[in-house]
Amino acid sequence: MSETKAIQVRPAMTLKQRVRKSILFMRLVTYGVRTYYNSAVRRTMSAKWAALFASAPKNLSDADIKTIVIVGAAFSGYYAARILATSLPRTGQYRIVVIEPNSHFNFTWVFPRFCVVEGHEHKAFIPYTAEFFAQGPKNMVNWIRDRVQTVKKEIVVLRSGEEVKYDYLVIATGSTVPGGLPSRAGGEGREGGMERLRGMQARIKKATHIVVAGGGAAGVELATDAKDLYPDKSVTIVHSRQALMHRFSSGLQQGTADAMTRLGVEVVLNEKVDPASADGKTITLSSGRQLDCDCFINCTGQKPASGLIAELAPHTITESGHIRVKPTLQIDDDSLPNVYVSGDVAAAHARNANSRIAARQGEIAADNIIRAIRGKAPNRTYKEEWGDEVIKLTLGLDRSITQFWDGTEELLFPNKDSDLALMCDGAWSALGAKPFEDTGVYTNKA
Ligand SMILES: Cc1cc2nc3c(=O)[nH]c(=O)nc-3n(C[C@H](O)[C@H](O)[C@H](O)COP(=O)(O)OP(=O)(O)OC[C@H]3O[C@@H](n4cnc5c(N)ncnc54)[C@H](O)[C@@H]3O)c2cc1C
Repeated sequence: MSETKAIQVRPAMTLKQRVRKSILFMRLVTYGVRTYYNSAVRRTMSAKWAALFASAPKNLSDADIKTIVIVGAAFSGYYAARILATSLPRTGQYRIVVIEPNSHFNFTWVFPRFCVVEGHEHKAFIPYTAEFFAQGPKNMVNWIRDRVQTVKKEIVVLRSGEEVKYDYLVIATGSTVPGGLPSRAGGEGREGGMERLRGMQARIKKATHIVVAGGGAAGVELATDAKDLYPDKSVTIVHSRQALMHRFSSGLQQGTADAMTRLGVEVVLNEKVDPASADGKTITLSSGRQLDCDCFINCTGQKPASGLIAELAPHTITESGHIRVKPTLQIDDDSLPNVYVSGDVAAAHARNANSRIAARQGEIAADNIIRAIRGKAPNRTYKEEWGDEVIKLTLGLDRSITQFWDGTEELLFPNKDSDLALMCDGAWSALGAKPFEDTGVYTNKA
């Protein structure tokens, strides 16, 4: 049964539902226009305005230079850095320091697919380029390939021991997962990441009984891809809740369940896997049930990467490990007004964190820093918008459903897809890189 049919067999919509859906559709269009206006038109105008009136003061000393440190350069930190680099006056008064351990931008969206499908792994690692960052005067943007261990009041301490002073700080460290793939690459270099993806592809290819733990997006995408590519293997997905994709709309949950039936993936709900019980032949569930398993893939366990703030502001770390922030994305501690937190690590996102939210929060943090530098109070705030919740979930190699959901009403768009690489060339272009040309590790250290 196709997803389109699956959605059509649901009960007919009432008039009220039809009206709500029409309103939702109009909001979708408005959201698109407003997002484009905010991110492109308004920003370009404000950058030009700033450049027009900026003049370089004479005899600048080091003490006159304001340093903005950005920790982490994925969706959130990258966009914050890009906005600062293109919007701050190029007068030599501002220095941006980006600290990121990864050699390349890790494009997480394609990890589950490239864990299964061979030959595309190089596309998941996008080189950082000078496209946006070399626009200012020499040394305006400094790129340090390292990891921040600890944040202190006015400095960050790197793994190398180096200390970097900051006037403003953006913490955009996202999430980590101990097991690495399929949620994170599990290392800092492109070659190692590609090697690990190939290793996972080989494990799946060799296996007879694949067990996937975790019925969120990563687990669902990986399980459906594996079964679609290798229909003769047994693929089981185990999830601790009552439905796969339980944090999403009921229509998406149903579409996911239908895809599992269509492909023949076995679904085990309300159970957890004990990873330590995997012995190469079987694996044991929380109920004691044993499953045949010669390939176990854990898609659970992502945690916010908030450890670096544990010394300076432990009281801002929530039970879930996120960092509590004000609506302006300043950390929730009045003694640290120049410290901003954005993206997956911030306790400021909607039901489901995603890259759109992370990037938008990076923009907001950058905008507020620009305001503060100009002597104005930070006033841009992050408010969850229903359009933030969009997700395109792949359900096998050539199908997906795109979901818009406001917590009550949903819009679902079932799609037929033809690009095994999930059109990730678009992400390369958006980051100023030529698909799929690796230009190596970006360095621009003063
Ligand atoms: C498998 C998978 C598929 C996904 N698919 C989608 C999708 O299709 N669409 C979508 O919108 N979202 C998707 N997401 C969610 C999306 O990837 C995240 O919401 C997004 O990556 C969050 O961005 P971020 O910048 O906040 O954090 P992250 O992407 O986690 O990046 C954090 C960055 O900070 C760096 N860092 C961490 N600690 C330190 C430190 N101490 N010092 C310096 N740097 C540090 C890391 O190296 C990393 O580059 C997916 C996620 C996963 C796991």
